[in-house]
Amino acid sequence: MIKETKSLSKLLEEIIALLETQAIMKNIEIQKMFEREDIDIICTEYQIKQVFVNFIKNAIEAMDEGGIITVELMVEGSYAVVRVRDEGNGIPAKVLERLGEPFFTTKENGTGLGLMVSYKIIEEHNGAIDVNSSEGMGTTFIVRLPLAM
Ligand code: ADP
Ligand code: MG
Repeated sequence: MIKETKSLSKLLEEIIALLETQAIMKNIEIQKMFEREDIDIICTEYQIKQVFVNFIKNAIEAMDEGGIITVELMVEGSYAVVRVRDEGNGIPAKVLERLGEPFFTTKENGTGLGLMVSYKIIEEHNGAIDVNSSEGMGTTFIVRLPLAM
């Protein structure tokens, strides 16, 4: 797969624009908090887009009463760090330990493939994914990707 140097903020802006209509229909606002615009990574663009589409879609699907999804972008050491935070129902411990398992879903029409694919793509880009969640409070997915030098 061809990898190129890409602006992560530009890439995030593009997918947020894509998902904004879907969010607004559920009374959800997607807030961008970018530390800087010039944060570049080396990546296969459509794969990284796929990852953040998955996270933001999951965030939208987790929020039944509207609210705010925050997409935060910053530099930490030699990594770009993206945090996707929602105010949704949170992830119970039993579900948390099975995240990324193929076909594991709690949704009636879910595929249970989004997170598995996301974990694979981020691993293939030498990055890492972390998750913080508390039931009833919301969930934050944290993605770390090496900065382009
Ligand atoms: P799908 O969305 O098709 O169910 P995913 O792999 O994207 O598959 O997610 C797997 C499961 O992880 C979901 O069914 C849901 O239970 C849980 N999950 C993922 N993201 C969130 C989130 N932001 N808030 C609450 N639960 C989540
Ligand atoms: Mg999903």
